[in-house]
Amino acid sequence: MAAPKVAVVGAGVVGLSTALCITETCPSCSVTVLSDQFSPNTTSDVAAGILIPHTYPGTPIHVQKQWFKETFTYLFAISNSAEASEAGIHLVSGWQVFKNTPKEELPFWSDVVLGFRPMSEAELQKFPQHRFGQAFATLKCDCPPYLLWLEKRLKATGVQMYTRKVADLWELHSEYNIVVNCAGIGAHQLVGDEKLFPVRGQVLKVHAPWVKNFIRDGDGLTYIYPGIHRVTLGGTREKEIWSLSPDSGTTKDIFDRCCSLEPSLRGAQDIKVKVGLRPSRWCVRLQREVLSQGGVKLPVVHNYGHGAGGFSVHRGTAKEAARLVGECIAALQGSSSRAKL
Ligand code: FAD
Repeated sequence: MAAPKVAVVGAGVVGLSTALCITETCPSCSVTVLSDQFSPNTTSDVAAGILIPHTYPGTPIHVQKQWFKETFTYLFAISNSAEASEAGIHLVSGWQVFKNTPKEELPFWSDVVLGFRPMSEAELQKFPQHRFGQAFATLKCDCPPYLLWLEKRLKATGVQMYTRKVADLWELHSEYNIVVNCAGIGAHQLVGDEKLFPVRGQVLKVHAPWVKNFIRDGDGLTYIYPGIHRVTLGGTREKEIWSLSPDSGTTKDIFDRCCSLEPSLRGAQDIKVKVGLRPSRWCVRLQREVLSQGGVKLPVVHNYGHGAGGFSVHRGTAKEAARLVGECIAALQGSSSRAKL
């Protein structure tokens, strides 16, 4: 069989990192990224990009932990390299604070992040409305620079990228041997996945360079995540809402909530509002499928549905998707050598 032609649909953090993993595990493949939008117009561009996992109820915890660990290790190495600033990756310390002590004082990811420990009484004095907290250091991606860095790496390995809206995965069967579906919330329409739904998120990106530590309310709704250039203030989680229009009342509410956690933010400048739709699902859809029409087959690997935690697990799920692409190639090679006999 000639070099397998692989199309990756989607150019968010999941599509780009999956394409990169495929080039690493299968250097003989010819990989093309097809997407109707690229950075800065994807959901991934809106994300805060902090590595704190979201829990997928339908995925075993040890699998989620493995995905997180692989992602953390990968980005930690970048943060320790000369590439860190261009890739927009840095280590950030901070606090997750709770109004009441949570049931789970040691989350499953506590031994992956660095220096996880309960907050001291002295630290808690900074948060008079909170009674319990956890201190740790984790990684933060500045999302648009990271996506551009991934695109640059892909172009350097010869990956082609085209703007194209795919109406049906089957339309790719005459041009490609394998299709990888990383369409995020677009998979709802692309493959008719009714289990996939949007969780709308509105955030503010502000100039407040004096804010150096992250602060996250344990309810997950209010957060302050300093990046290299801007601080992300969040947020909202609105299930089944498809609107991408910012809401001015919500902007004020987010700003007030963040200022009550970090009063110095009252001096923040240049407030920009962003909205994105988290591609949410009971579990990430990470599996092989074979489409077939009139005796012609098209192997597909799905990798979408990362919800509120796509940055936290993207490298781990991309590696698994690349492994599944390897299985598809082995199956294709098996059937082409059988056909020759
Ligand atoms: P996307 O970025 O949406 O990419 C999908 C791609 O597919 C796009 O390029 C799109 O154009 C393309 N596409 C779709 N349909 C088609 C089609 N039919 N044909 C061709 N192309 C198509 N996660 C974290 O881990 N940490 C955080 O701090 C964090 N903060 C967040 C804050 C907010 C406000 C939001 C909204 C999300 C946040 N997330 C966070 C979640 C994270 O953003 C997502 O899980 C992640 O971006 C999903 O990536 P994706 O590549 O699957 O989707």
